[in-house]
Amino acid sequence: MLINILILIFSLSFPAWAADRFVPKNAFSTLPLNASELEYLSHIDHIRMCVDPDWMPYDFVTERNEYIGINADFQKVFAERIGKEIRLIETVDWKQSLDYAKQRQCEILSSATLTEQRQAFLAFTRPFNVYPIVIATRSDQSFITDVGGVLQKTFVTVKGFAALDLLKRKYPQMIIVEANDARTGLEWVASGKVFGYLDTVATIGYQSQKHGILNIKIAGVTDVNYKMSVAVRNDYPLLLSIFDKAVASLTEADKLTILNKWISITYENRRDYRWFGYGLYGVGALLLLLALREFVVSRHKMRLQALNKELELLSNTDMLTGIANRRLLNHAFAKEIARARRYHSSFSVIMLDIDYFKTINDNFGHQAGDHVLQMLAVLLDETVRANDLVGRWGGEEFLLLCPETDLNGALQLANTIRQKIQQYDFGLPLIVTVSLGVAEYHESQSLEDLIKIADTALYNAKKAGRNQVKANGVQ
Ligand code: GH3
Ligand code: MG
Ligand code: MG
Repeated sequence: MLINILILIFSLSFPAWAADRFVPKNAFSTLPLNASELEYLSHIDHIRMCVDPDWMPYDFVTERNEYIGINADFQKVFAERIGKEIRLIETVDWKQSLDYAKQRQCEILSSATLTEQRQAFLAFTRPFNVYPIVIATRSDQSFITDVGGVLQKTFVTVKGFAALDLLKRKYPQMIIVEANDARTGLEWVASGKVFGYLDTVATIGYQSQKHGILNIKIAGVTDVNYKMSVAVRNDYPLLLSIFDKAVASLTEADKLTILNKWISITYENRRDYRWFGYGLYGVGALLLLLALREFVVSRHKMRLQALNKELELLSNTDMLTGIANRRLLNHAFAKEIARARRYHSSFSVIMLDIDYFKTINDNFGHQAGDHVLQMLAVLLDETVRANDLVGRWGGEEFLLLCPETDLNGALQLANTIRQKIQQYDFGLPLIVTVSLGVAEYHESQSLEDLIKIADTALYNAKKAGRNQVKANGVQ
């Protein structure tokens, strides 16, 4: 308590003392990481991150060194799912952030677009967001239905904008001048000096509102998309694959929650929130929305299908280990039994239970226990054939379904698994072992019968001293 008060007093008297840290609630990953990735994470304390300190609404570092914005919210999600703290390294501008990344003073850039130059020192995850580059013009201009029709006009974008190369490649005839910042570019458009400003909707909305440049509108959409990835130093391939899995784990709902928060409201004068709609006001925005609506309706169906698929995947996946859960196992068994009955074929099942798992939890904590479960799932997944299904039956029990495999084959696999686990270094000062019960399916049996036989065999393996394989008296 006293310590808490002291910390509070300390932090109040030094408000700008520390840079922002995204500390996860749990120090373990919920991602389907493999053994090498988990091993890598176990050796690091935190991940250093550089950002663009002034790129609202994507990135912004406040005077109190708080990192906020769309990308900051994504990084918070990544920190949670990876189970590691992500710590902001302060920089004065984006250029310095790139320099720091080059000098290996930060492991990641919160968001960057893949360019050839950057690949010399960075590697990129799959994009976590894709934004179309739009054209903002003065409000009195007509809408642009075909970008090809306005190529003889002059456009402006911000110096160093990563989408510039893509735009030049897509529209080689387009004349694009560079402004020092978004405000200047938008002012050139508003005063008629140039025809159109190229950027994402969120940036245009935020910047036009912030600087009171209100006689502009979004008049058209280019065919160029700005893809934002997490950039990771290119000599850390494991960290890259970890971040890539974190990005892959984002659902449509995750993205919408974050984007809606920043695109419906925006930061102004630090504490004053205003409706973003203000910036994209009037008939212009309405017409654009109507055009986009057509597009959205057809996309809607696809998105619904995708969401449903995602939902199905989620309801079949064990959240801790990323492998099949009991629901999917039951489903797969029902199918396999039907197949065995129809074709008079057979299959086997292996039931696995960690020995003295309670001791691991009691001595090293529940998180260490979870970690063992995660690594075990990876090991099992790596050991079985592509046709086999590995799932978590419950607690520290796993079940393997091996189609087209007789009792002998299953016994061999069970023994391979037992040895592999015994030899594996789980990072704990003890040897983790498992006991396994094996059973082969016979036509007249029900699923319950089969599981019961495997369970009895497992019980026998435990009784015989653990770290063994049993199958109805067979060894
Ligand atoms: P035995 O060799 O007889 O199997 O001994 P055991 O200690 O492994 O078996 P027991 O059934 O006594 O204990 C199982 C433990 O597994 C108790 C429970 O708290 C723990 N457990 C179940 N699910 C989880 C989980 O998701 N995470 C962690 N960390 N522990 C779990
Ligand atoms: Mg058990
Ligand atoms: Mg056990």
